[in-house]
Amino acid sequence: MNTKLKLLILSFLILINSSILAQEIKEENQISPEQEELDQFFMLMSMAMTYKFWQKEAINKRGANIGAILVDENGKIVSHGLDSEFVLGNRTKHAEMVTIESYFIRTQKNNLEKLTLYSTIESCAMCAGALTFKKLERDVYGQKDSIFGNAFQRLQYNSSEDENGFQPYPDKVELMHSEISEIKELEKLHEEFDWENKALRDFLVSKPVEAVFEKAYEKFFIFNPIYPENKEIIENARKYFQQL
Ligand SMILES: [Zn+2]
Repeated sequence: MNTKLKLLILSFLILINSSILAQEIKEENQISPEQEELDQFFMLMSMAMTYKFWQKEAINKRGANIGAILVDENGKIVSHGLDSEFVLGNRTKHAEMVTIESYFIRTQKNNLEKLTLYSTIESCAMCAGALTFKKLERDVYGQKDSIFGNAFQRLQYNSSEDENGFQPYPDKVELMHSEISEIKELEKLHEEFDWENKALRDFLVSKPVEAVFEKAYEKFFIFNPIYPENKEIIENARKYFQQL
């Protein structure tokens, strides 16, 4: 075989291979419409739960108005948590930490494989670190945090080509930013908020933010699934909610 022909065949093979790879990456990040519906519902639920235990003051109560829910691969809720920094006297008790700690203590399991975490706000470095280290499968987050966010992505960042660079963290959490309208509204309010001498917890007690969470709370009860397979999951989630 002449060299020209060999090169032609080789480049053809590379082309096919890279298109298969591109397809695989695309499929990895694709979720079914049924799952998308559940993601919307559980995001509403984490907001509804936060609203149910709404804190009107930014400090010295339970904690900030942030909530999280942990759901297994069958759509069953296995844990939940609210930011409890003040009531527990420990400023590391973010909603995600409270949720997974309670799960680990109750189940005595060692990891979060096959589980999805829904949180009303994007995780900080501490929570993203714990969730990644404990092999969470998916993380669906609400409001983006422009300062402390992108923590999962930072762990996944590959800088090995740079001098003193490093490989990404060995475990990777599948990430999804919720696009429900209430989250978009929160992000708009976040942009418009007067941040002078204010922290995130101050933003999360403001009246316009409370109104958005109230809307999510109302929607949670009337959410009507299109996909019949989600009906029972949603009914069970509402039963779980009533017992909170
Ligand atoms: Zn955190």
